Amino acid sequence: MLNTENLPVLTGDIVAPGRPEWDLARRAWNLTVDQRPALVAQPADADDVRAVMRYAIGAGLKVAAQGTGHNAAAIASLEDTILVSTQRMRGVEIDAEAQTARVRAGTLWLEVAEAATPHGLYPLSGSSPDVGVVGYTLGGGLSWLARKHGLAANHVVAIEVVTPDGELVRATAEDHADLFWALRGGGGNFGVVTAIEFRLFPYGEVYAGMFLWPYERHAEVLRAWHAWTRSAPEDVTTSFRIMHLPPLPELPPFLSGRSVVVIDGAYAGAVDDGTAAVAALRALGPEIDTWAAATPAALSRIHMDPEEPIPYLSEAALLGDLDEHALEAFAAPIQPGAPVLFGELRHLGGALAHAPEGAGATGCIEGEYLLFGIGVLMGPETAAPVRAALHDFKAALAAYDTGSLYANFTEDATDAARFYAEASYSRLRAIRRAIDPTERMVGNHPIPAT
Ligand SMILES: Cc1cc2nc3c(=O)[nH]c(=O)nc-3n(C[C@H](O)[C@H](O)[C@H](O)COP(=O)(O)OP(=O)(O)OC[C@H]3O[C@@H](n4cnc5c(N)ncnc54)[C@H](O)[C@@H]3O)c2cc1C
Repeated sequence: MLNTENLPVLTGDIVAPGRPEWDLARRAWNLTVDQRPALVAQPADADDVRAVMRYAIGAGLKVAAQGTGHNAAAIASLEDTILVSTQRMRGVEIDAEAQTARVRAGTLWLEVAEAATPHGLYPLSGSSPDVGVVGYTLGGGLSWLARKHGLAANHVVAIEVVTPDGELVRATAEDHADLFWALRGGGGNFGVVTAIEFRLFPYGEVYAGMFLWPYERHAEVLRAWHAWTRSAPEDVTTSFRIMHLPPLPELPPFLSGRSVVVIDGAYAGAVDDGTAAVAALRALGPEIDTWAAATPAALSRIHMDPEEPIPYLSEAALLGDLDEHALEAFAAPIQPGAPVLFGELRHLGGALAHAPEGAGATGCIEGEYLLFGIGVLMGPETAAPVRAALHDFKAALAAYDTGSLYANFTEDATDAARFYAEASYSRLRAIRRAIDPTERMVGNHPIPAT
């Protein structure tokens, strides 16, 4: 039993089991995950994080950093671990001249997008407004501008981090260069990030939105989207989804209780050029067409991702090129009646295919398409059928699976070697050995020190 009498005094808070706040403090965004850490620290600043790390060293506890808990399902165990929840560490500073943002560890993507919007500067944010900037970026970061600019991690300028020995350092390409390299793709294995600084892109406007068709048109639209992706310019990044939406009053009528096909995404450039780029998709006569000039804040919401915690399971894979058989195999397991919310293909390639000079541990993503499926649990008894449906969905495309994985969309305990090139994985392990030899940090995707 943990002695809670000598807990560090923080400007924030440290919550022990038994406190009335305990259940809320340990809750993850993914509500299927029942996190049971030894303590939950809620630091207000970097000094608090240092105090928690030093306490953990003295008490022989491990430390797991968490922003939102979007990727909490991957964590194997939080036994004997202090969960450092960064939710109180919020704030965005935009340097409009340098075209960079510095954000504190608990900041969500929508907060960055809203702060950047008045400057016409675009962050490389993902599809969900309430995903955490730090967790997303440390895992790579696949945005709506990704085929043009590559992973968000490639555009990080500096990372402030409390290392497992309790020191606060600022890692850049020049200082603590190994740590800087490891953090950009290596996730939460190297310390607790307190702030992160990254580039923004001065588009003024981008062209973004969604097309929607009734489910009955899925085969024809999928075939056309797939053919279109083969020659689509790098400026455009899109996703194709078959969605089965429950009849919920909070959903708009065009979605509630319906099965639909959605293509959404963005063109990194002006409306006229973007309109020309997606003309072949528009020619399919969608029932709904929301493509228009989009601010950074609007871009955060085109995918209609849920903005409140939900209980769900997911499966993901990185696929190579697809053929006619693959398109049929994608759609077959997710027909109406299947217990999945959606099955998705995100178009990869372009700048995502190659790591640029100076990239970190994850500089690119292998494959042409990212396969992703989600099923929402309506009660514990639905877990088994949802898991089985998602398994079948992924298995149907096994012949096209590259075998590699993308860390951010991997939501179960997985051998981290599958996220990296062999040499990068060896280097990550060596850096872990040097920085965290006793494996104090508990990342969502652990990289062993030995
Ligand atoms: C609805 C939805 C939409 C998504 N869309 C996209 C998308 O478009 N593109 C994309 O790339 N990904 C996307 N993701 C995946 C998402 O990027 C990952 O789940 C990511 O890990 C979430 O980061 P987080 O900080 O919100 O989550 P958390 O679960 O809080 O963090 C994940 C991990 O990051 C590390 N971490 C977090 N904060 C810190 C810190 N301060 N210091 C050190 N390590 C830390 C820890 O290891 C932690 O376990 C999506 C996920 C969901 C559920």
